[in-house]
Amino acid sequence: MSAAQERIAELCKLINHHNRLYYVDAKPEISDRAFDRLLEELTTLEQKHPEFCSPDSPTQRVGGEPIAGFATVRHREPMMSIDNSYSADDLREFDKRIRKLLQGEAIKYVVELKIDGVAMSLTYIKGAFEVGATRGDGEQGDDVTHNLRTIHDVPLRLPKSPAHFEARGEIYMTRADFARYNRGRAERGLEPAANPRNLSAGSLKLLDPRECGRRRLRFFAYALGPCEGVEVATHLEGLKLLSDFGFTVNPHIESFDAIDAVIDYCNSWATKRHDLNYETDGMVIKVNDLAQRKKLGATAKSPRWVIAYKFAAEQGLTKLVSIDIQVGKFGTLTPVANLDPVKLAGTTVSRASLHNADFIDAKDIRVGDMVVVEKAGEIIPYVVRSEPEARTGSERVFAFPETCPSCGSPVERDKNGVFYRCTGGRKCTAQVKEVMRAYARRSTMDIEGLGEKIIEQLVDEKLVSSIPELYRLTLEKLIALERMGEKSAHNLLDGIAASKERGLGRLLYGLAIPHVGDSVADLLANEFGAIDALLNASAERLAQINGVGPIMAEAIHTFFHDAHNRSIIEELRALGLKLTQDARPSPAQTGGASLVGKTLVVTGTLAKYQREEIETLIRQLGGKAAGSVSKNTDYLVAGEKAGSKLEKAKQLGVKVLTEEEFDKLIGGT
Ligand SMILES: [Zn+2]
Repeated sequence: MSAAQERIAELCKLINHHNRLYYVDAKPEISDRAFDRLLEELTTLEQKHPEFCSPDSPTQRVGGEPIAGFATVRHREPMMSIDNSYSADDLREFDKRIRKLLQGEAIKYVVELKIDGVAMSLTYIKGAFEVGATRGDGEQGDDVTHNLRTIHDVPLRLPKSPAHFEARGEIYMTRADFARYNRGRAERGLEPAANPRNLSAGSLKLLDPRECGRRRLRFFAYALGPCEGVEVATHLEGLKLLSDFGFTVNPHIESFDAIDAVIDYCNSWATKRHDLNYETDGMVIKVNDLAQRKKLGATAKSPRWVIAYKFAAEQGLTKLVSIDIQVGKFGTLTPVANLDPVKLAGTTVSRASLHNADFIDAKDIRVGDMVVVEKAGEIIPYVVRSEPEARTGSERVFAFPETCPSCGSPVERDKNGVFYRCTGGRKCTAQVKEVMRAYARRSTMDIEGLGEKIIEQLVDEKLVSSIPELYRLTLEKLIALERMGEKSAHNLLDGIAASKERGLGRLLYGLAIPHVGDSVADLLANEFGAIDALLNASAERLAQINGVGPIMAEAIHTFFHDAHNRSIIEELRALGLKLTQDARPSPAQTGGASLVGKTLVVTGTLAKYQREEIETLIRQLGGKAAGSVSKNTDYLVAGEKAGSKLEKAKQLGVKVLTEEEFDKLIGGT
């Protein structure tokens, strides 16, 4: 074994180990940054030695090509729905029916949490992950394999190789990852997602697996589907097998002989479930013995051997004491209700967003009203309605302030929108702080040392009121701040200086252009390569980019034609920030051939391009960069040490290009 091969194997093992600690045990031992470094090292090594890159390497999790649409998968055995029950009496009825049908046989019930996510079926052929599909209508669902491959607790390869293996379970999102996603939305001035289940379902329907990968979905396996080559007699044996095969099985599973014990167990979770790091909406009770299940059979709609026990949604009545106004990054004023504390879904709720003026009007919410608040399946407390009958006459209709509570500038209502905005711009400390937070975050300019508290201090002490001023901070200014030592001041200055090299994509994301998230920022940076081309682009030109819609194009164009934004960019240029992207020439610049409708596969080690770069370039030119050679492949671009793909291309008569020939084809140099 060569040193590289050994290191690759070692890195795969290490990364899988830390993945498991992070995703399954929720006890990470290393920082995200240290983890990224391992992954980076592996990626680099695999690019140098593609012959050692295995299909189940952790690098394969980052997601392949976006797909054009969803194929339909017919389930081998239908994924039937489950009957619901809502009370102890319903469960006793269920037990009675089963005992009657089984004529006095001893019964064991297995009771599991009902995870509030998206049901999924994963098929493995000879131990390799083949296809994953949503439940759909029960008979057939959507093929979402490309996205499932990015989920860390979906094994890509099983330790054994049964001819056909099917795991069924639930895709879900943790509360923490859901909150993180919504923070990102809020930072970009976008509406938050309603709940983790909707967000999980939406993420699985993304065409681009890289975006899905960023959302950090997870998977609990809860049953075997139809299998060939494995034998189990009970459900518990099936769960054990799933766990042995590397699936994550929820740990809170118990079995009971009597229905009263089942009911007690279900009730014990009614409040405790709110302490879990994921949403549940009930319990599932299953007959353990598979032979008994067969005897029980199914109705037209659902199996007779299983029932769900649903928890009631938790609502509470409380008084809305007052309404605060929060000022966002784009000056948006968001009304937030202060409530008399009320215990809901295991937590004390004392604040709830009222979103905007329309929300308050539509629900006729007044200050002093009694309101119904809900927190079931919703992490964010939600004001369901006001109770006009409970009014005493002292309630007040809420009016938005005419001036910003942070800076005193006039407030304006959007022309056609539902939002009020502060017009203070960079004079508004609330807005400046939000802008700084967005700029310093790890996913944008990644400025080490520039955390929440420092931003507060810098803005409050008037040391910083715009992004360029960050780069003009000096040691003297910093150590004058309270609780700022010389060492941390040095570190902060180093962190700020290092951010100059992040490149155009990260900068665009950091500038918090309305509607522009990280993928669009990268898209723009790759398309234009340098800031000036972007500054000169018309809205029509922007809208031509695949992935940029007309509204987004308009917002980007407006942003770059705002005099203040323009001057910030010029200041950043003068301060020495890198305003280009290390990307290939765009089609417009090369004047080269378009690859529209062509499918290309890249293999081996290239001299000029990293794998990801050339694939991005292929996409920019309208082509499709595929992972494997087939008769539909138009060109194989083969670098050094091209292996089986080159063989296959020759067999199929696919045209093989060297790197130079590829450059010539696209009209580059
Ligand atoms: Zn303001």
